[in-house]
Amino acid sequence: MDAGDLIFGVLEPAAGALHARTAVKVLAGLAVAKGARPVRGEARPAGDPKGSAVAVDGETLHADRVVWACGPWLPRLFPGLVGLRVARCEYYYYQAPPGWTMPPLPIWYDFQGPFYGIFDLDGHGLKIAPDDAEADRDFDPQHGSRELDNHKEASSRAYLARRFPALAGLKQAGGRVCQYELTPDNEFIIAPLPGTPNAWVVGGGSGHGFKHGPALGEYVERLLTGAEQPLERHSLRERQRPGADAPRSATADFPVTGQT
Ligand SMILES: Cc1cc2nc3c(=O)[nH]c(=O)nc-3n(C[C@H](O)[C@H](O)[C@H](O)COP(=O)(O)OP(=O)(O)OC[C@H]3O[C@@H](n4cnc5c(N)ncnc54)[C@H](O)[C@@H]3O)c2cc1C
Repeated sequence: MDAGDLIFGVLEPAAGALHARTAVKVLAGLAVAKGARPVRGEARPAGDPKGSAVAVDGETLHADRVVWACGPWLPRLFPGLVGLRVARCEYYYYQAPPGWTMPPLPIWYDFQGPFYGIFDLDGHGLKIAPDDAEADRDFDPQHGSRELDNHKEASSRAYLARRFPALAGLKQAGGRVCQYELTPDNEFIIAPLPGTPNAWVVGGGSGHGFKHGPALGEYVERLLTGAEQPLERHSLRERQRPGADAPRSATADFPVTGQT
């Protein structure tokens, strides 16, 4: 690793990666084991004044509380109410040379790039992702094309070659298109839906929502039972983007100073 242009780095030996797809499947299985009935389909508010009814493909479901946790689809469901910007992201995979695997190598993140990457995990190849979605174009998660256009592949490849000189000239092994649902201040939205006491909106992960899932779930449960009150900073009020110099909230406790 060529770290010659960095003033400092931080290594977290206990860090790891979450297998998001597996985790979500396991969670769904646990919910079913506890008696949940999964219903597949596109849900809409069913017009109940208290927000307790949901329409799914002709069926109306009723619940004590309804949580709309629809990620980047929230603005489509509640236009004008949920202030999220949905930005298109691309990331890339390369064929990893032998030995460039995670573990033992760590995930890395360069806040000044910003780029992050994962060395070969489970044979998927070496991943690199440009992490400047705020500057990227808007995306329609429902109809937008998921085909790669590789518009950041050259800069990603150049970064890899500069930071890890032994990785110059790797063969691309694919990539993905996905989307970030961004609030202007990178704070979550966790709020009751105005005028409907039993319906809530939870989202605005802003590219860092997954790892918060378990803690958020427990927190939202306390809000739904009234054990805690929602915070103003998570409300549906109009948000301001922090000053250009302010770090993203994901890095708020991590002062980035000096030139790198
Ligand atoms: C490239 C990339 C890298 C990321 N890396 C990280 C990371 O390293 N760490 C991290 O913590 N987070 C990361 N994230 C962010 C993380 O994926 C999101 O914050 C998280 O998935 C948000 O979870 P969610 O449940 O709010 O929404 P989603 O995961 O988007 O789930 C919403 C679900 O609702 C469904 N839905 C939408 N509308 C309806 C409807 N009307 N009826 C029924 N279902 C509906 C959708 O199909 C979807 O399944 C990354 C995101 C991307 C794109």
